[in-house]
Amino acid sequence: MIFEGLAEKLQSTLGKLKGKGKLNEKDVKDAMREVKLALLEADVNFKVVKDFVNKVKERAVGQEVMESLTPGQHVIKIVNEELTALMGNVQSKISFSSKPPTIIMLVGLQGAGKTTTGGKLGGLLKKQGKKPLLVACDIYRPAAIKQLQVVGEKLDIPVFSMGDKEDPVNIAKAGISHAVKNNNDLVIIDTAGRLHIDEVLMDELKNIKAEVKPHEILLVVDSMTGQDAVNVAQSFNEALGIDGVILTKLDGDTRGGAALSVRSVTNKPIKFIGMGEKLEDLEPFHPDRMASRILGMGDVLSLIEKAEQAIDIKKAKELEAKIKKQEFDFEDFLTQMEQIKSLGPLNKIIEMIPGISGAKELKNIDFDDKEIVRIQAIIQSMTKKERKDPSILNASRRRRIAKGSGTTVQEVNRLVKQFEQTRKMMKQFGDLEKSMKKGGKFK
Ligand code: GDP
Repeated sequence: MIFEGLAEKLQSTLGKLKGKGKLNEKDVKDAMREVKLALLEADVNFKVVKDFVNKVKERAVGQEVMESLTPGQHVIKIVNEELTALMGNVQSKISFSSKPPTIIMLVGLQGAGKTTTGGKLGGLLKKQGKKPLLVACDIYRPAAIKQLQVVGEKLDIPVFSMGDKEDPVNIAKAGISHAVKNNNDLVIIDTAGRLHIDEVLMDELKNIKAEVKPHEILLVVDSMTGQDAVNVAQSFNEALGIDGVILTKLDGDTRGGAALSVRSVTNKPIKFIGMGEKLEDLEPFHPDRMASRILGMGDVLSLIEKAEQAIDIKKAKELEAKIKKQEFDFEDFLTQMEQIKSLGPLNKIIEMIPGISGAKELKNIDFDDKEIVRIQAIIQSMTKKERKDPSILNASRRRRIAKGSGTTVQEVNRLVKQFEQTRKMMKQFGDLEKSMKKGGKFK
């Protein structure tokens, strides 16, 4: 989980304050010392930590807090606001050009995740109605062009390339002409990376910038490299000028130092975050939601957005009608499972629920996505008739299903039981609704 250690420490330090009826300056100072250590351990830039703690301290020893009836809550509110401010306050969006195509140039060191992110970003913006074109300007890294083509194919996004013999500036220019001709209103240029920042690389990027005049230069950095990521961002910004940062691999970054320092150090916003290796694992960055996650307040808004994207409204309506008519069967159960699965790994969803992310007892539970796969396999091994009418599932049918799905009869039994319980519950809800509509009482 991202910010794992930091979240745990901040929540426990601030939790102690919450329990106190009155706070004095020493309480606040002690807590702030712990907050400071927690931030430093999370690899947040030293100067950023100092400024942050001073700001919180100044506000927290103010009269308003000291005299409040819930001073601890007040301090948490201040920490939340300052964390949000640290990360840029509001979501920083891509500014699309009024004269398409909008040109986005992706830059960054090798291995940061530039090529993958180019695809992810194209996919995300395509869902929002854009018609992207990916342009392959990384002619040095072996297989970079092929990689972009594979990503493009998976997302059904066209990729423009001219092989690895042409000058990247020419490729970028030709790519844009191609986009204009083909009505692509968005061009994402994948540029070359190096292992370290060097002058040759910067010159090439500057040449592309000068010729192409991109609307956005986004720097892709690997959050797992911590303060190095922040230094890279600073160097790119000074040499080339960037408009924003995409932080990748936040799914593997348990400390979070880069995410908390980049904005303050470079004064450039984080625009997107990479949360996994899959092509849909790129999210717009919301400072307020991230602060809430760190403080264990959950991130309900992102959860709702995910659900809205994953759930097919038409199917949901059909399902509702079926539940009302009490026709809910295993086919519907399967559809629901698939929708839940499309929300992403269960432990990532759990993290977004307020209070739960901090619950110790849930930490060690393995939210097993394989369970969903097993359930799917069992249902898929049933005949159509069995899915419609589970009452015909006798012992020999159950044995056959277990064998077909590579599970055991006990697992099949458990699923059938779960299904029957779900159906019973739905029936009760249906009855309740009916009797409420009639104005009667539910018995
Ligand atoms: P490039 O050299 O900057 O173009 O980097 P690539 O796009 O080839 O990515 C390098 C590696 O990082 C690949 O294995 C990607 O799958 C992986 N990667 C990229 N973004 C993420 C992310 O957000 N999370 C995780 N876990 N892996 C990522």
